[in-house]
Amino acid sequence: MDLPERIVLASANPAKARELAAVLDSALPSRVILEPRPEWVPEVDEDAEDFEGNARLKAVALCEATGLASLSDDSGLEVDGLGGRPGVHSARYAGPDAGDAENVRKLLRELSGVPADDVRRAARFRCVVVLRTPGGAEVVASGSVEGHIATATRGQGGFGYDPVFVPTDGDGRTFGEMDAGEKHSISHRGRALAELAALLGAPT
Ligand code: IMP
Repeated sequence: MDLPERIVLASANPAKARELAAVLDSALPSRVILEPRPEWVPEVDEDAEDFEGNARLKAVALCEATGLASLSDDSGLEVDGLGGRPGVHSARYAGPDAGDAENVRKLLRELSGVPADDVRRAARFRCVVVLRTPGGAEVVASGSVEGHIATATRGQGGFGYDPVFVPTDGDGRTFGEMDAGEKHSISHRGRALAELAALLGAPT
């Protein structure tokens, strides 16, 4: 696929859209213009079975609504002791209107009594990104980061489950205790976007 000159970001989550734009700005040539998701585009039902399916649903909807190439991501947290939950349901784990704090509280509650170093706390974030043109051409990339769920929240940075996720490739801090650059250098989203940039032939 030739790199489109304008790409609209599909994420309705402002924290995620900021992360995507920050990582892509350094990964893609400066002539690529990244546009935020227009507010008039209705929210997409993310009812596919996996991250790639949900990312594609969002990318197709944004292409159709705007006539522009679109970049979407779908991501989530899989916890071994919970059989891979919350998975594709990460955003609304504690209920349809749940926010980050409620989702994290539910996760900690479900793991209460599980010792800090128990394998049941092993977890990973996964991210799939889909870049799609209105003509239907697509580039798909993915990334993941292994880690474990802490017994309590630490740090104010990031969003979602960041305050309880301790990456294996780090120094014991949660993602919530890292600055954005540190997180992206090892995060599922950073890795998926690096793979996307490589697939597009962009210098990283
Ligand atoms: P979606 O990709 O917008 O469907 O939602 C993904 C959900 O997974 C977010 O709302 C968060 O709860 C969680 N999540 C995905 N990526 C991250 C991350 O980088 N840090 C913390 N939580 C994340």
